[in-house]
Amino acid sequence: MGLFSYNCKSCGHPALATNLKPINRWMRNVVAIFEDGQRIVGEYDGYGTIGDSDRRILMDENFTLYHAACEEMLGAPQKYSGPSESADDQGHFYEAGAHDMPDPRGKSKRRTAAKVARPRL
Ligand SMILES: [Zn+2]
Repeated sequence: MGLFSYNCKSCGHPALATNLKPINRWMRNVVAIFEDGQRIVGEYDGYGTIGDSDRRILMDENFTLYHAACEEMLGAPQKYSGPSESADDQGHFYEAGAHDMPDPRGKSKRRTAAKVARPRL
């Protein structure tokens, strides 16, 4: 069984576990919400494991997936709302730049601000 992934219900980008860059590293942190209401939260490993949960996500399983950042932007913990789409690119085989999207919480903006504030020599 190879790498697989699902698309976030909010932004449509997949959970990423490989080829991460500073701009999209936040897409690794996800929350999966199952029909029975169980939530598993943490870093996705690309092969079905999220964080240190014993429950894994499977290919062709029904659950709702969000990036942790995207769920946070929605303002409250989300409920199961139908199956998330399996990611065509498996969260791995995508063109450079396809998922270059900054953290919606504005983390990268703050990093830029810190850079600007650093004294120049
Ligand atoms: Zn998202």
